[in-house]
Amino acid sequence: MINIHAVMTKPPILILLSIGVVIALTSVGGHASPAETASPAISEKVSSVEPRAGINDTGHSSPAIVVNTKSFDPAAATKAWLATVPHDQREKSDRYFEGGYWLLLWNFLVAVAISIFLLESRVSAHLRNLAEHLTSSRSLQIACYAIPYFLIAGTLGFPLDFYEHFVREHQYGLATQSFLPWFREQLIGFGLTIIGSTILLIALYAVFRRAPRTWWVWGAVVAVLFMTVVVVITPVFVEPLFNTYKPITNPEIRNPILAMAQANQIPAQQVFEVDASRQTTRVSANVAGFLGTTRIALNDNLLKQCTLPEIRAVMAHEMGHYVLNHGAKLLTYSAIFIAIGLALTRQMFDAAVRRWGVKWGVRGIADPAGLPLLALILSTLVFVATPLLNTVVRVTEREADAFGINTAREPDGMAKVTLKLGAYRKLDPTPIEEFFFFDHPSGRARIRMAMDWKAANLPCAEWVPSRDNPTTDSH
Ligand SMILES: [Zn+2]
Repeated sequence: MINIHAVMTKPPILILLSIGVVIALTSVGGHASPAETASPAISEKVSSVEPRAGINDTGHSSPAIVVNTKSFDPAAATKAWLATVPHDQREKSDRYFEGGYWLLLWNFLVAVAISIFLLESRVSAHLRNLAEHLTSSRSLQIACYAIPYFLIAGTLGFPLDFYEHFVREHQYGLATQSFLPWFREQLIGFGLTIIGSTILLIALYAVFRRAPRTWWVWGAVVAVLFMTVVVVITPVFVEPLFNTYKPITNPEIRNPILAMAQANQIPAQQVFEVDASRQTTRVSANVAGFLGTTRIALNDNLLKQCTLPEIRAVMAHEMGHYVLNHGAKLLTYSAIFIAIGLALTRQMFDAAVRRWGVKWGVRGIADPAGLPLLALILSTLVFVATPLLNTVVRVTEREADAFGINTAREPDGMAKVTLKLGAYRKLDPTPIEEFFFFDHPSGRARIRMAMDWKAANLPCAEWVPSRDNPTTDSH
C-alpha cells in the first residue's frame, strides 16, 4: 500500500521512497467482522437483488459463476452489495478516510514548518559548522550533520505522528497495540530510517560535490539503486523485526492458493501467514521483495475473518502484482518521477539559495546545511503530485484486480472482501475524490468490476477433482 501522506514529515529519503513506494503492494484491508458482511448474496434468478438469498460461503469455487446470469444486472448488484453495509458503519469509515485527506495537508504543513524553522533559526547552519569542526572527512561531515538533523525533525514531527498512527487508529478500532509496544516499534523503525537515510545522504552528497550541475541525473540513479536495495532486503531483514512470517500449513487454504500460483507459472512453493493482528485489525495481504526475495503473504486477520472464496480473490490479486511485474514497473515509474522531481528541485534550490542563502547560511547544493531546503522542496513536489502518484498506483492496482478476478473467478468473494476493506477506505467516493486521494480503486469500482465479470458469464470448464488432476493432492 502506498501511503504518501504518512511520510511527508519524514526525512527526504522517505519522501523519495514515497515516490517509489514499492516496498509492499498491499491489496486489501478492513476489519469488519464476518458477521457484518458475510452472505449478502445476490440472486441471479431474477434481476432483482435479494440480500441474504444464500451465496455459498464454504465452497471452494464460486457457485455464482455457474448459475443462470441472463438477467443479472451488474449495476443493481453493485448497489445491493454496498447497501449491505450498515449506515453507521459506513459513516464511520467515510469519516476515517476523509480525515486522511486533511492529514495529507497537516503532514505537508508540518514538514514545511520544520524545514523553515531549521533554516531561519540557522540551526541547520550551526549543525553544519559543528560537523565541520568534528571531522575533516566530507562523508563523515554528512553523517555528523544528518544524525542530529533526523533526531530534531523526528522529534518535532512526533506529535502529529502519534495522533495519526496511534490515537486515531485506536479511535477507529483499527489498532491493537498499547502505547509501549507501539512506541518501541516506532523507535526501531526510526533507527532503521536514520541508518538508511544517512547512507543515502552520504552517497547523494558525494554526487552533489562532484557534479554541481548534473547532480539531479546522478542523484536519481543513486536514489533508484538505493530504493531497489531497500525493496530487496525489506522482506528478509526489516519485516521480521516487526512480525513473524510462517508458511501456511492448512492444506484447505494452502492448496487452492498454490494451484492458482501453478496455473500462472509462479514458482511459489509456500504461502506465508503474517501475524499482523499484533499491530492492527485490518485485513490485508501483500507481495514484498523483488527478484529472488519476492514473497506472497496473507495476514492472520484475513485468515480469521474471510472465507476461502475471499482468500482466493485476495491472493489472486497479489499474484497479479507478481505476474504483471508491478515491482519492476513501479520502480521504473519511480525513476522517471524522481528524475523529473530532482530536475525541478535543482531549479528551485538554486533560486532559493540565490535569494536566502546568506541569511540561512547555506552555500549551495553540496552544503549539508541545505538539507532542510531540499526536504522542503521535495515535500512540496510530492504534495502537489499526490493525485498523479495516487493515479499511477491506482491504475496498477486495478490491473491486479483484473488479473485477480480472472484467476480466482470469485466475483462474490471479491465483493465481500472489498466490503471488509471498506472499514478504512471510503466505499463510494465521488470521481474527483477517487482521482485525488485513492491509491486503490474504491470499493464501488472494485465491486462493479466483479459484478461486470459475473454478468459476462464467461464459459468455464467444470473443474472436477480427480486423480488425474495433480493440483488436488500433490502439494
Ligand atoms: Zn494490490
